[in-house]
Amino acid sequence: MPTDITVNGRTYRWMDRPLVVVCVDGCQYEYITAAVAAGAAPFLGRLLAGAGTSLIADCVMPSFTNPNNLSIVTGVPPSVHGICGNYFFDPESGEEVMMNDPRHLRVGTILAAFSNAGAKVAVITAKDKLRKLLGHRMTGICFSSEKADQATLAENGIENVQGRVGMPVPSVYSAELSEFVFVAGVKLMERERPDLLYLSTTDYIQHKAAPGTPVANDFYAMIDRNLARLDALGATIVLTADHGMNAKHGDDGQPNVIYLQDTLDAWLGASKARVILPITDPYVVHHGALGSFALVYLPEPAAQRAAAERIAALRGIEMVLTRAEAAAKFELPSDRIGDLVVVSRLDTVIGTSRDRHDLSGLDVPLRSHGGLSEQKVPLLVNRSVSKQPEARRWRNFDAFDLGLNLVTRPS
Ligand SMILES: [Zn+2]
Repeated sequence: MPTDITVNGRTYRWMDRPLVVVCVDGCQYEYITAAVAAGAAPFLGRLLAGAGTSLIADCVMPSFTNPNNLSIVTGVPPSVHGICGNYFFDPESGEEVMMNDPRHLRVGTILAAFSNAGAKVAVITAKDKLRKLLGHRMTGICFSSEKADQATLAENGIENVQGRVGMPVPSVYSAELSEFVFVAGVKLMERERPDLLYLSTTDYIQHKAAPGTPVANDFYAMIDRNLARLDALGATIVLTADHGMNAKHGDDGQPNVIYLQDTLDAWLGASKARVILPITDPYVVHHGALGSFALVYLPEPAAQRAAAERIAALRGIEMVLTRAEAAAKFELPSDRIGDLVVVSRLDTVIGTSRDRHDLSGLDVPLRSHGGLSEQKVPLLVNRSVSKQPEARRWRNFDAFDLGLNLVTRPS
């Protein structure tokens, strides 16, 4: 067996026991502490109390699902791997391009590198939109709970998933979609015992329910039970998140929205500037495509400064950066972001035009993400970790470094 694998400039030690990296979608730290306080998550409680290592890390900006899942499995920020949202705008063709396809991924993954070196690797994701990116050039098992009934040996490295998991294929808008990921992960660890297992859930519950609510605590109790099983099976577990989640509405329950396309149309003339919301994807019912991050393409790059200042003065805006500033500060690929990058405050989201957002699916007041206010995420390990510099800025994409290089191994 090889001893070290170098991927994207970092060297990872070969695992001495199975490593499970879990990305709990939308896991604001308070979900964990509230579930622990309510007695719903005893395993996580023991980790926080010192039986493991509990850190707080920064996710990558924008605080969205795909950029962060890809950062976790590549160990690098979007400036290197290229996936900076669900969409980017190609000014040459004038088209909005979806980034679900691995051809937009600019580097290889840690999962692929280990599988190609002979490790047994398995990936289970809740939504199918991530499957191809996560499984890019990887051999082994890779499937989504959303399409578990369609998994084949040829395409996914596994078949009869439903029969093995013992659950029907859940709705894409359900807590069960994530539960399926965990139950399948435990079954794999019992039978196939992969060397590396990557589990990625969906934030359906976090979009609906605040930390400490019965619905949220039940969800974390489910996670806790399954983590305890993986722990009992001898795996090293690193749990992190793609982003946090916050309430984005006023006291009246209505979302606080800045319709930035409408605003720019009023200032500059209709459709002169173009607002892109990289949160937009085929599953927008639970957030109405509203998040705290937007890209703006301007007709006159020379007018950047003036436009930036004017947008920054809008109520609810936290930060406006030029392309170069955003590429540097947020580690973003400069060819896939706008002339301006706009971030709104914790309680505010950015939309395009009022008539382009269908909010009829929002049956509870809006909770969402995308901004700096959702950047802090948990980074928990069920092992002790060698001493690190006090000032180290932990990132969620340090997950594999932690699980393979920094955990203390029995001598
Ligand atoms: Zn997410």
